[in-house]
Amino acid sequence: MPIRQLSETMINQIAAGEVIERPASVVKELVENALDAGASRVEIVTAGGGLNLVRVTDDGSGIPEQELALAIARHCTSKLSNDIHDIRSLGFRGEALPSIGSVARLSIRSRTANGDSAAEIGIDGGRVLPVKPAAANRGTTVEVRDLFFATPARLKFMKGERAESSATSDVVKRIAIAFPAVRFTLAGSDRSTLELAATDDTAEGRLARVAQVMGKDFPDNAIAIDAMRDGVHLAGHVSIPSYTRANALQQYAYVNGRPVRDKLIAGAIRGAFADVLPRDRHAVTVLFLSLDPSTVDVNVHPAKADVRFRDPGLVRGLIVGAIREALAGAGIRAATTGAAGMMAAFRPGVAPYSHPGPTGGHRSHEAAYHASGPGGFDPLRSPQRPLDMGYGEMGYGEARHQRNGFAENDQAAFDTGPPASADARAGMAEPAEALLGMVLGAARAQVHENYIVAQTRDSLVIVDQHAAHERLVYEALKNALHSRAVPSQMLLLPEIVDLPEDDAERLAMHSETLAKFGLGLERFGPGAVAVRETPSMLGETNVQQLVRDLADEIADNDTVETLKERLDKIAATMACHGSVRSGRLLKAEEMNALLRQMEATPGSGTCNHGRPTYIELKLADIERLFGRR
Ligand code: ADP
Ligand code: MG
Repeated sequence: MPIRQLSETMINQIAAGEVIERPASVVKELVENALDAGASRVEIVTAGGGLNLVRVTDDGSGIPEQELALAIARHCTSKLSNDIHDIRSLGFRGEALPSIGSVARLSIRSRTANGDSAAEIGIDGGRVLPVKPAAANRGTTVEVRDLFFATPARLKFMKGERAESSATSDVVKRIAIAFPAVRFTLAGSDRSTLELAATDDTAEGRLARVAQVMGKDFPDNAIAIDAMRDGVHLAGHVSIPSYTRANALQQYAYVNGRPVRDKLIAGAIRGAFADVLPRDRHAVTVLFLSLDPSTVDVNVHPAKADVRFRDPGLVRGLIVGAIREALAGAGIRAATTGAAGMMAAFRPGVAPYSHPGPTGGHRSHEAAYHASGPGGFDPLRSPQRPLDMGYGEMGYGEARHQRNGFAENDQAAFDTGPPASADARAGMAEPAEALLGMVLGAARAQVHENYIVAQTRDSLVIVDQHAAHERLVYEALKNALHSRAVPSQMLLLPEIVDLPEDDAERLAMHSETLAKFGLGLERFGPGAVAVRETPSMLGETNVQQLVRDLADEIADNDTVETLKERLDKIAATMACHGSVRSGRLLKAEEMNALLRQMEATPGSGTCNHGRPTYIELKLADIERLFGRR
C-alpha cells in the first residue's frame, strides 16, 4: 500500500484514543472548557453512564458564532499564544472537541455576552454539520450522544453504567475541589444528584468545598498545610494519622489549579506519613502546589493529568517537610509511634554496655541490635535492664510515661504495677503439665498490655494478641460466611455515618451482602447511612471507621474481584476492626483459650496483613544468649 495522508476523521479518532478513554474523560474535557471560559455555574447531566449522553452547560464567555467551526477543528484553541512554557489554562491542545466529535455525536450551542442570539454547530462521527441559529442564554451547552458509536472497539472496554457513572463523579469532585467559587451539579437518571454549592476562594471556602466532596467530618480530622520553599508554595489539608482510609483514592493533588495524578506527589505523601501510619493505611489529603508555570511541564500526556517538575527534589522535600512539620505541630508524636522512634528511645540505655554475644564473643548491644534480621526477634533488644534507671522513685504512671518501647517490658517482671495487672498475673500459677506440651504452651503472663508470654517444655512463646485475634475472627467470619449468616446484634441507637454520596450508595447497593456478615445498614438521606446491627463476634466496634473502610473496599474491588474474594476481603476488614485491641487485659483462661484456638485454626500463625502472630524462642537459644552454652 502506498503512503498516503490519513483523513481528518481518522486523525481525530486516533487522538480520541488517547484523550477520550471513557465517558468520564468527556466530562473532564467539557468541564475544563467551561472553567477556562470563566463559568461560575457548571451543570452536568449524564445518561447511561455517560455513554448515551453527556451534557455540560456553563454560564461562561461563550463562543462567537463565527468561531464555532474552529472550535471543533483540530489544533484550534483560544488558549495558547506562542509560549508552551507558560500555560495557565486547563486546556491548550485544541484537541478535545474534534476528538469527541470524531467518535460520538457532538453539538455545541453557545452565546457570548454581546452576541444578540445563540448559534449551534454539530459534528457527527467526524461529519461536520452546518452552523444554524439557536435559542440559548449566555454561555455554552455541549452535548455528546452515543459515545464511541463510531469506534465500537472502544465500547467493549466500558465497565458498565454504574462504574462509568462513578468514574464521572470522581472526575467532577476532583476538579471541583480546585474551583470552590464555582457551583457544580451532576445529575441524571443513572445517578443520584451531586450538588456542590459555590463557596469562595478563601482558605475557609476551599475547606468548605473539600468538606462537600469528602464528607463533613474531614475538616475536624485535618491539619492545615501552608509552606513555601524557593518559590514553590504548598497549601491544603492532610488528615490526622487516626483518620485514614484503606486506599489512596482520597488523595487529591493540584498543580497550579490543575488536578494531577502524580507519582512523585503520592510518594512524598507516603514518605511523610511513613512513621505514623501502617503500610496498609492511607492518609486523606488535599494539596495545592503553586509554582512558576515555566518550571513545570503539563504537556506530558494528552489527558494532561501527568506533570514533570523541573526540580522534583525541591517539590518532594517541600511536601515531606511541610506535612511532617504540620503533624508534629498538631501534637501528634510522629516519632514515637514509628520504628525509628522506638530505636531512638532504646539506644541510649544500652549503648554503654557490652554483652556476650550469641557466638560467645563480646559485642556491643548496638552491634547486636543491628545484626538482628528483619522481623526476627532479638532478645538483646529487651535485656533485663539494670535497676539503676531511677524509675523506682517515680510513680508508675510517670515511669511509664518516660520510658518507651521494649524498655517497658521489664516492668512486668519487677514491678507490682497498677492494680489492673493482677489479672494479667493470674497466669503465674504453676502451669498444667498438659498445657506445656501444646504447640503454643501455657500462658504465663500478659505484658505491655498486648503480648501474651507463654511457656512450652523447651521454649518461650510471645503472642501478639491483637494480631492473633484478628486472624481468628477473620477465619471464623470466612467459615460462617460460606455456611450461614453471621449472627448480629442490634445497636441500642442506630449509628449514623456521614459519607460521600457515592460511598453511601455503594454501601446501600451491597447491603444484602453486608447483612450476611451481620452488618445491617440502610440509606439515611443523602450522604449518610444508618447502621442498626453489627456482627456479634466483633463486640463493641468503631462503626464509623468500619463503614468507611468497607466503602473503600467496595469502591476498589467492585468491578474486578469475584464475589467470594470480595466477601473474604470484607471479612478481613471487619476482623481488623473488631479484634481485641492491644491494651485489653486478659485473664489466664482467656489467654489460654486464645492459644488453643490458634492451634486449632489453620493459618493463624500470621495475621491478615502477613505479619507473624507469635514468635517462639527456643530455650537453648536463650541459654546461648546468656553464655550458658
Ligand atoms: P482547548 O480547550 O485545548 O483549547 P478544545 O477542543 O477543548 O481545546 O476547545 C477548543 C476551543 O473551543 C477552546 O479553545 C475554546 O475557545 C472553545 N470552547 C470550547 N468549549 C468552550 C466553552 N464551554 N466556553 C467557551 N469556549 C469554549
Ligand atoms: Mg479543552
